[in-house]
Amino acid sequence: MAITDDVLVIGGGIAACTAALSAAETGARVRLLAHKKSTLRQASGLVDVLGYAGGDGPLSDPYAGLDALPEGHPYHVVGEDGVRAGLRIFDEAVGDAYRGGHTDSNALVMTHGGAVKPTARYPASVAPGLASSSGDTLLVGFAGLTDFDAPVAADHLAAAGVPFSARGVTVEFPKRFRADAKVTRFAKALDRDEDVDGGTVRSVLADTVAEELDGESRVGFPAMLGDDHDEDVRAELSDRLGVPVFEVPTGPPSLLGLKLEDILFDALDEAGVRISAGNPAVDFEADTGRVETVVVDQKSRPTPYSADQVVLATGGLVGKGLDSDRESVTEPVFGCHVPHPEDRYDWSDPEAFGDHAFARFGVVPDDELRPTDEDGEPHFENLRAAGGVVGGADVAREKSASGVSLATGAVAGRLAGEEATR
Ligand SMILES: Cc1cc2nc3c(=O)[nH]c(=O)nc-3n(C[C@H](O)[C@H](O)[C@H](O)COP(=O)(O)OP(=O)(O)OC[C@H]3O[C@@H](n4cnc5c(N)ncnc54)[C@H](O)[C@@H]3O)c2cc1C
Repeated sequence: MAITDDVLVIGGGIAACTAALSAAETGARVRLLAHKKSTLRQASGLVDVLGYAGGDGPLSDPYAGLDALPEGHPYHVVGEDGVRAGLRIFDEAVGDAYRGGHTDSNALVMTHGGAVKPTARYPASVAPGLASSSGDTLLVGFAGLTDFDAPVAADHLAAAGVPFSARGVTVEFPKRFRADAKVTRFAKALDRDEDVDGGTVRSVLADTVAEELDGESRVGFPAMLGDDHDEDVRAELSDRLGVPVFEVPTGPPSLLGLKLEDILFDALDEAGVRISAGNPAVDFEADTGRVETVVVDQKSRPTPYSADQVVLATGGLVGKGLDSDRESVTEPVFGCHVPHPEDRYDWSDPEAFGDHAFARFGVVPDDELRPTDEDGEPHFENLRAAGGVVGGADVAREKSASGVSLATGAVAGRLAGEEATR
């Protein structure tokens, strides 16, 4: 017999979590069906809503850019209210762990390469390092952690015209690890404040950095300042250095992304969402235009899940919500229509930072976020889509990835929940 719920959300990323939380708010019985971990562990942990639109940017007000987005953009489907609904669900889920909810304006955040990026929400540990605040800055990198080259990042910041001086130094981490040690190993050593020659990891690190300080009023480290005890680590380093300490978001594996994933899954637990993780949805059964059952491959055993409403939030090409070979782009679970130029050479622009068609690949939603077929009709009455699987946005160029996931997740989840509990 199939496992039955009101709303089944397929996916495990920020879009799926938001859709599940939104559906749960309607009183629906919700299940999240996730195959693997999401792309959050590769992402920066920042929540970009809209940084660039219609040739303008960086935008200080993301809402002011919505009208300039091209036709077919998912923000036109959900509207400003949808964007705000996604951010509200996010803010309630993350609480004090994130900043930015006090304003409609974007913040300018330093990236690990020394660029400055407009973003709507950022981890609390990033806040003291905003690029819009004037505070001369010392960036500290670690020998062996090649992902963050502090002197190069500082030079790039200066070239970007930030309103403060930035200087970068590379120091030895107080404890030696294998050359391929992950950032989590550094974070754990700081969490546990492990003993090292001359003291403990935190005290020796603070002493090392204090020798480098030359009047700067804040110090930035790559985002690895603790995992379970990150607030204590940052507070102690700030205390010992006498200036605020902040984290600079880093690339994969991203501790800030991993922490966001944990926070979102805790919020799902709290909202009573049932979670089935570890196996992919591979097939479905439909009747009279409705998805009746989603089939999950449970270690080669097909297991049916049925629900009144289904939300597809399986991500884009990176998350495997879309598949592509040399000929075509497909949506592998329901076979939804994914428009794309026939000629493979038209998928990308010759310029590396050009207008790539592939960036906007995805299912085409109707005004209720239901994926449509070649004739513009919904494939199924009770199937909605959210996040990277939805086409129409060039999230990398617009700086809108998580915002699109939040907004479409919030609206798809609410509509699914309302239908199921009607
Ligand atoms: C390297 C990188 C950096 C990024 N940086 C930023 C940033 O700075 N700011 C920002 O706002 N956003 C950023 N993002 C984007 C953001 O993290 C999300 O990728 C994006 O919002 C899409 O989220 P999603 O939930 O739709 O998909 P994903 O995060 O891709 O999640 C898809 C989920 O669906 C699951 N899934 C797929 N197929 C199936 C199936 N058949 N059955 C069950 N489950 C399935 C996957 O296992 C995964 O859990 C970044 C992404 C990457 C990859």
